Amino acid sequence: MLSFWEKKHFLNFDLIVIGGGIVGLSTAIRYKKLFPNKKILVLERGLFPSGASTKNAGFACFGSLTEILDDLNHHSEQEVTNLVEKRFSGLCAIREEFGDEALGYQATGGFELITENEIADLNQLDKINDLLYPLFGNPVFDEIKDISKFGFSKKVLKVIRNKYEGELDTGRFIQSLWDRCQQLNIKILTGAEVRHLDIENGAVMVGERESGITFKSEKIAVCTNAFTKSLISELDIVPGRGLVMVTKKLPKTILWTGSFHYDKGYVYFRNVDNRVLLGGGRNIDFNGEQSTDLVINHKIRNYLKEIYSNIIMPGSPPEFEMEWAGIMAFGDSKTPIVKMVNHRVGMAVRLGGMGVAVGWQTGGELVGLLSKV
Ligand SMILES: Cc1cc2nc3c(=O)[nH]c(=O)nc-3n(C[C@H](O)[C@H](O)[C@H](O)COP(=O)(O)OP(=O)(O)OC[C@H]3O[C@@H](n4cnc5c(N)ncnc54)[C@H](O)[C@@H]3O)c2cc1C
Repeated sequence: MLSFWEKKHFLNFDLIVIGGGIVGLSTAIRYKKLFPNKKILVLERGLFPSGASTKNAGFACFGSLTEILDDLNHHSEQEVTNLVEKRFSGLCAIREEFGDEALGYQATGGFELITENEIADLNQLDKINDLLYPLFGNPVFDEIKDISKFGFSKKVLKVIRNKYEGELDTGRFIQSLWDRCQQLNIKILTGAEVRHLDIENGAVMVGERESGITFKSEKIAVCTNAFTKSLISELDIVPGRGLVMVTKKLPKTILWTGSFHYDKGYVYFRNVDNRVLLGGGRNIDFNGEQSTDLVINHKIRNYLKEIYSNIIMPGSPPEFEMEWAGIMAFGDSKTPIVKMVNHRVGMAVRLGGMGVAVGWQTGGELVGLLSKV
């Protein structure tokens, strides 16, 4: 039962964005910057964003050596360089927009652990540096000469550095987006799950059909990533759950910082406030992780703990204090789906595992499409 005032002031907008993750908030901000007089509403089903954007590891990365080599098995050289370019320029764009301090950005570099399994890949290091040279004007990857300082297990034979990667504070990134929304007078409603999208009439219903509230809008942006199929079916989107764990604060100072990758980027870790943040391992149970349920996969948890004790911190007991899951979205291509469904509804979804890097730009691409029609 709505009041006269609620009906008069709260139901009609120029742009409604469904989903309040990195892409949804970026879309709202970039649209408002282009059209300052437009009235914009973001509808987020969770109290906080409840997909990937506050659950991620905060790697400001664009691909480790072995991940790029793996990508070249499935994509052309041009496609792979385009992906790297998009991710790197996306990172530069958020740093420029919000500033390193606001994002908690640290240019600490990216590092990849090379074991016997990957050692042959090093033969292609120069080839990849040559491929990426036009983008960076310098070699991207080099080998760290003295790896004893890291204290990794002897199974780690080499460590490859990527000097252009870094790390940021995931919470501060979302806070920066929220702050910008507030400055621009963009309304965000949380706990607002859209259950029905009326594409033809530009209407969205929050809540159940009988008791729900219908909002109307000139344009609608669907930014629901892995959850999009509940609103728009027949899309090439497969959910991919990811696990992240954080240890207790360690008594001894951790001697390394940066974004660390292992096993083609499937496993990743970093030093956060002298704790080890460790995540990934989806490749241990691909099928089991094709889920939108926010629960912990015990097989993967055990696998990560083994990596902690056997590779990263040899001999140390894995004393993890926190763990959580987040949901990513994948498909046949690593490129997000950014398209219009009709003249008023567009979507920017399927961000994969590098939405920190490409989320802001992807929102910008959707705004480009929404503002054309
Ligand atoms: C564990 C993990 C680690 C990651 N680590 C990194 C990393 O280190 N670096 C990196 O670049 N990327 C990383 N990523 C990927 C990155 O976080 C995502 O690509 C990015 O956050 C996607 O942003 P998004 O806004 O598209 O999606 P989401 O953050 O999933 O946002 C979609 C939002 O839509 C909301 N929603 C869904 N359905 C509805 C509905 N019907 N009504 C209202 N709201 C709805 C959801 O609650 C959600 O908040 C990681 C992801 C995970 C899960």
